[in-house]
Amino acid sequence: MKILVPVKRVVDYNVKVRVKSDGTGVDIANVKMSMNPFDEIAVEEAVRLKEKGVVTEVIAVSCGDAKCQETLRTAMAIGADRGILVETTEELQPLAVAKLLKALVDKEQPQLIILGKQAIDDDANQTGQMLAALADLPQATFASKVDVADGKATVSREVDGGMETLTLTLPAVITTDLRLNEPRYVTLPNIMKAKKKTLDVFKPEDLGVDVKPRLKTLKVSEPPKRGAGIKVADVAALVDKLKNEAKVI
Ligand code: AMP
Repeated sequence: MKILVPVKRVVDYNVKVRVKSDGTGVDIANVKMSMNPFDEIAVEEAVRLKEKGVVTEVIAVSCGDAKCQETLRTAMAIGADRGILVETTEELQPLAVAKLLKALVDKEQPQLIILGKQAIDDDANQTGQMLAALADLPQATFASKVDVADGKATVSREVDGGMETLTLTLPAVITTDLRLNEPRYVTLPNIMKAKKKTLDVFKPEDLGVDVKPRLKTLKVSEPPKRGAGIKVADVAALVDKLKNEAKVI
């Protein structure tokens, strides 16, 4: 059984992003880039399933420019067996990525596709759901526990007011929540081993996918600065302000 794990190269979560002065986007020149944290969790989960003997091959996929090879090497250092780069310099939106992944699902026939629930750069939370729709596969989003046995995946997910458990018939799409696992540290010997693993490169045209953006960003701006807070004398003054100034109660 194969698992496909899409991994996105994003601005590292420790970096405070700056909006470009012309408002066309955020400045990513000379900024540290890393694997999307939710995707690291997805790779870790896939590798754990392999270590349990449930899965035979873990394939990491990244769509973007040539530098995404670094992200794929990290996935292979965690334990993915091989990588696929769909190389393009075009700005990729979730629908385009979902179409590329659908083409790779057709080609590789994985039983499970584990994505992050969202990419921390666009915060779209769309690709997994779009892929499930395009490939006509069952989906469980925001997984906090995954068990795979007898051609089925049992997924626990947090919902408002509790936990929901879903059973999916494989092949299926799962997206990871933060609580699913804690990814391992990548060790130097595994980084060295990862350099020797297979990494195939395709262009979107090879997969028959038009990746042109469908959405146009009109403007990007900083959130308004917060004003200074004040201290109130007592609870009565607080309630009065909430009632009469903020008008929230
Ligand atoms: P999004 O819908 O953009 O929030 O992304 C959700 C998930 O889709 C990510 O956590 C990745 O697993 C996957 N994904 C999105 N964009 C890419 C990309 N360019 N390359 C590989 N995987 C991606």
